Amino acid sequence: MLGDSDLLALWERGCPRQPLDRALLLGAWARPDLDPDGLADLPLGALNRALLGLRAALFGPAIDAYVDCEVCAARFALALDTEDLRVAAAGPDGPREGRLGGRHWRTPTIRDLAAAAGEASPQAAALTILRRCLSPLPTPAELTDSELADLLVEADAALESSDPGAEIGLALTCDACGHRWVASLDIAALLWDEVAARARGLLGEVDTLARTYGWSEAEILGLSPVRRAAYLDLVAR
Ligand SMILES: [Zn+2]
Repeated sequence: MLGDSDLLALWERGCPRQPLDRALLLGAWARPDLDPDGLADLPLGALNRALLGLRAALFGPAIDAYVDCEVCAARFALALDTEDLRVAAAGPDGPREGRLGGRHWRTPTIRDLAAAAGEASPQAAALTILRRCLSPLPTPAELTDSELADLLVEADAALESSDPGAEIGLALTCDACGHRWVASLDIAALLWDEVAARARGLLGEVDTLARTYGWSEAEILGLSPVRRAAYLDLVAR
């Protein structure tokens, strides 16, 4: 399991990286049984489930989030549970395949998301991902963007039935205006923000104790959380 030193090292490695690379870094902690290729080839739902498990192990199962209504902008609180989300995201641990538009189709992985990360719009990214998931890989001449766009609805339905956890959808109802919509939860981004916040908190603790007692970072991180908190309490008096 991640100790405080490990968490700081993880944060340090992830800081200069792109969001998808951070998701893979977190995924490597969550699924130590997989090598980097195995991790990148996981269905997105399996990666999301692994990250939900890591979230529960690091910070507990309860997620207190805030959401802004997309119509009236009212902010309301949302209480989520990683185990509920994991159950809702149940799905295969290996790729699923099928037929789409007369071609072979497979569920997308994080490699496909990475390949589409530079696209200018969500629609262009969706088309790039879909093209990569078809085989033989169609050239733009064989399958134009507009033909591909016609397949998107079908592809979304195929993904939802083959890998339901690929997107964690939250069915929301606004407390203020009653508007209903489905928001998607980016568990990798949420977990990264929490890791970064925890890392900054740890650095603050190290800073305080190092200034007061002259201990090294390794010595301070080597204290149990209970003992470290007790010293911080003494310093604050
Ligand atoms: Zn509203």
